[in-house]
Amino acid sequence: MGANEDNANHSGRLLVLDDDINVSATICAIADRAGFETQATTKAEEFFQLVMDWQPTHLIVDLVMPEVDGVETLHRLALSGHQGSVIVTSGLGGRVLEAASRAAEENGLRVSGVLPKPFTPAKLRSLLHQEPGDQKPPTATVQYVSPVSADMLATALAQKQLCVHYQPKIECTTEKVVGFESLVRWEHPERGMIFPDQFITLAERHGHIAELTRQVFDMSLAWFAANFLETDLKLAINMSPIVLADAQFPVWIKQACERYGVAPSQITLEITETSSMENPVASLEYLTQFRIKGFNLSIDDFGVGYSSLVQLARLPFSEMKIDKMFVMSASSSIESQKIATAVIGLANALDLNVTAEGVEDDWTLQFLCDLGCTHAQGYHIGRPMAPKLALQWLHDREKRP
Ligand code: C2E
Ligand code: MG
Ligand code: MG
Repeated sequence: MGANEDNANHSGRLLVLDDDINVSATICAIADRAGFETQATTKAEEFFQLVMDWQPTHLIVDLVMPEVDGVETLHRLALSGHQGSVIVTSGLGGRVLEAASRAAEENGLRVSGVLPKPFTPAKLRSLLHQEPGDQKPPTATVQYVSPVSADMLATALAQKQLCVHYQPKIECTTEKVVGFESLVRWEHPERGMIFPDQFITLAERHGHIAELTRQVFDMSLAWFAANFLETDLKLAINMSPIVLADAQFPVWIKQACERYGVAPSQITLEITETSSMENPVASLEYLTQFRIKGFNLSIDDFGVGYSSLVQLARLPFSEMKIDKMFVMSASSSIESQKIATAVIGLANALDLNVTAEGVEDDWTLQFLCDLGCTHAQGYHIGRPMAPKLALQWLHDREKRP
């Protein structure tokens, strides 16, 4: 980290804001042994002065103090543009701590975790050595000045500017690769890579989603057929529920599979529920048609938005994907752990395969495996990759001892 590079003998400079001097002394003693320089204060003004003068690399902020409002302190810290690692602590329940740290993160602070009191030295040490948000993907949102338009998307489709990246999926117990998910990208000639969150809804609203889906299917099936026909790997493709309303689609997809020689049982259609699924009876019919034709059906992003228990109960899904929101935060949030546990239990009870997406560390992978999660996907395993890179990745992984 830049701020402590000038201090080679230390892991960093830690500043603690806590009204309980015994707690601060304990934190400082543990951090000191972990190689940190430390200072502590009970006063907000002194805290901000030290942030400016001493430039700490790490901050621990108590949420509840008699004379200082912890939430306000975090807010003010965010406004100052502070870029050090922040740990939020308090004796209040985990839910309050997590809400406060989420708010801090949304305001731009680099939060490395929450420290519920009482804590163990090991927990504190691990938080001190954790890089805040270090596995976060490079987001594409900030670099573009204006949103993309429907006309631009129509041009992109006409000029075949879309491409597909592939993210591997493994079996939790064996860590064997079981397949890939295809994720569309838009290679804009001037803007560079544009991610699907910026154009899928636009495509749905402006009547481009059917053409987009066709192009994605064509590219994905061609890649899959060229490399994996003789294997038992599977390919997952995302499908907007709007496409389901098109009565021609089940037939079109079946024919596309036949053209490439891919069996429908090798394909999983991942469906993200949205408010757009206006005609539930029709979607029930179309989804059933897909199952009858042999395709696997997955309810994507389960647990957020419209992917509800109602949909799970009435639609013929064969797989559930737990939304990455609960998975990415599992290692630091007891609440997320409980939700993941309940969702995996539910999937097991319904005899559904369950995939956790957004697995970013080994602890989470083991945690999910112990719960009975069947499959996992995430940056810890492999990022979405361009077609050739995905093949190379698989080749390298298979050579691993
Ligand atoms: P999704 O289907 O839920 O895909 C998972 C998203 O999470 C992908 O974002 C993936 O890059 C990201 N991801 C995977 N592992 C991790 C991780 O460990 N950490 C984090 N932070 N993120 C992870 P992406 O590629 O930007 O796609 C976003 C969404 O766009 C997809 O969510 C899917 O709903 C939609 N989408 C993508 N391709 C298509 C498509 O061809 N058709 C349709 N209709 N929707 C698509
Ligand atoms: Mg998906
Ligand atoms: Mg998802």
